Amino acid sequence: MRCPDCQKFVSMDTAGADECVDVSIEIDSLENSTVSVACEVRVTRVCADCGTELKELTFDIEETLEVTLAGRKLTEDELNSLHASLDDVDTSESGGGRYAKNIISFDGTIEVYLDKVMVGSVKVGDSAAASAFEECC
Ligand SMILES: [Zn+2]
Repeated sequence: MRCPDCQKFVSMDTAGADECVDVSIEIDSLENSTVSVACEVRVTRVCADCGTELKELTFDIEETLEVTLAGRKLTEDELNSLHASLDDVDTSESGGGRYAKNIISFDGTIEVYLDKVMVGSVKVGDSAAASAFEECC
């Protein structure tokens, strides 16, 4: 496709997922000490020449996990002061041959912290056909 910035017909590179992803966190069950975490991971295709974003694909992630501190369940106050982050994000692309669809996939780990102590983590990931990319400009 033609890049709107440099006006050239260019090839596209797949950029990594957003580096800074907001992970929302909610108490799922006080009794079971579980929380729900959710985030949106955006993967972009950029102009190979100038780096302008040309297409984007968004993955919605939602997981429930148990959190524990030194083997015990967390109190309500503790559950309310948790924060979470998405780490080790990796995107990959497979296929692309004559008979294989291009598949974009990503994986990462959502880690849940109470202050600086990790109280739980869950592996997340998803994949989609490259045709699901939408033009973003
Ligand atoms: Zn360009």
